[in-house]
Amino acid sequence: MKIRVGHLYPEYLNIYADRGNIAVLAQRAAWRGHELEVHSIGMGDDLESRGHDLIYVGGGQDREQALVAQDIAGKGECLREAAAEGAVFLAVCGGYQLLGRFYRERSGAELPGAGVLPLHTVAGDRRMIGDVLLECELEPGERRTLAGFENHAGRTILEDGAEPLGRVVAGHGNDGSSGFEGCRAGRVIATYLHGPLLPRNPWLADWLLAEAIAHRTGDVPTFEPLADELEAEAHSVAAARARTRGGRA
Ligand code: GLN
Repeated sequence: MKIRVGHLYPEYLNIYADRGNIAVLAQRAAWRGHELEVHSIGMGDDLESRGHDLIYVGGGQDREQALVAQDIAGKGECLREAAAEGAVFLAVCGGYQLLGRFYRERSGAELPGAGVLPLHTVAGDRRMIGDVLLECELEPGERRTLAGFENHAGRTILEDGAEPLGRVVAGHGNDGSSGFEGCRAGRVIATYLHGPLLPRNPWLADWLLAEAIAHRTGDVPTFEPLADELEAEAHSVAAARARTRGGRA
């Protein structure tokens, strides 16, 4: 089947090769006989709340976030409706911050967000940079790890009702002190992890694809496992790096 993907602001929010996540989703879908139909959604573009099975937004510097903030805030109602009706979201770093209520830059300027997630972010003086390793449980009883790279000034505060994506094993995470990283609300997954994220965490790519198909069909498919030796190697190398040097000042 065709999985309809909405890629928000690919021209502005795409650092650390974040668009590589789309390539991984497309390839892993194709290996299962499905096709990704990717629509770029830019400034001033209309957004239909039921138009996509998966919505993706990458990371970006403060400058780029400032350029798109008013526009994504304007799409907020539609994005909240999409999340409420079960669309899958993957948001990375700057995109993660703009799914919240606001991002306050170091200058004190407050960039409005889409208000899809109950959280806000405040930029601090010291950037949080390095390899990260998380432990998360998207499905009850299924503990998995996510390995990636973070580089952000923002400290994200999860508000009432917000659930973290995972527990920090190594790295800074949301704020360098809470011990949590990212935010998860049903099928909405938001994280600081770049890399890009999905090549070294194929299980999450498959989870996102399966949930996107379920958004369309009502049933979560069971995928045949793929020969992920290379991905598993990339994951363990990244995890080892995080354990030895993640979260260092
Ligand atoms: N500009 C934001 C920050 O510094 C996000 C950075 C990013 O996307 N890597 O926190």
